[in-house]
Amino acid sequence: MGKKKAKDDKSELVVKNKDAFIRMNFLYQAATMLAGPDKTEEHKLSMFYAANMKRIGKRLVLRISPAVKRTICKYCSSPLIPAVSARVRLSASHDRRLVVTCKYCNRLKRLKLKPEKEAAQEAAVVAAPEKDKDSSAAAADSAAVSG
Ligand SMILES: [Zn+2]
Repeated sequence: MGKKKAKDDKSELVVKNKDAFIRMNFLYQAATMLAGPDKTEEHKLSMFYAANMKRIGKRLVLRISPAVKRTICKYCSSPLIPAVSARVRLSASHDRRLVVTCKYCNRLKRLKLKPEKEAAQEAAVVAAPEKDKDSSAAAADSAAVSG
C-alpha cells in the first residue's frame, strides 16, 4: 500500500506557487491586450497589470521567462508591442543588437542577437523536432553553407 502511494505521488507533477503563476499569466495577457498606441486610461491599466505581475514574481522569487521579460519595459512596465507601444530597430554597428525603444518613457532595451550560425542551427532543430539529432545537425550544416 505504502509503495503504491509513493508511486502515485511521483507521477503527479507538483508545481510550487501554481496559483501565483496562474495569476501572473492572467496579468500578462490582460496587460498585452489593453496596451495601446496612446497613453489612455486603458494603457495605464495595462502598465499597472504588468507592474503587478513583476511585483508578484519578485515577492515569491519566481523566474519570469526571458521571452516574457523582453516584452515589458524595465522602467515604466509598459508592454512592448512592436509598432504599437515600442519601436524596434536593428543597431547600425557591427555588434548585432535589436534596439527596442519604449514609446512612453523613451528608454532603450538592447537585446543581443545570436550569431547567424547558431540561429540557423536552432531554426533547423525547431523545423524538424521528430528527426534524430544527426539529421538536424546535417540540415543546420547545409543551412549554414547556403546562408
Ligand atoms: Zn517604458
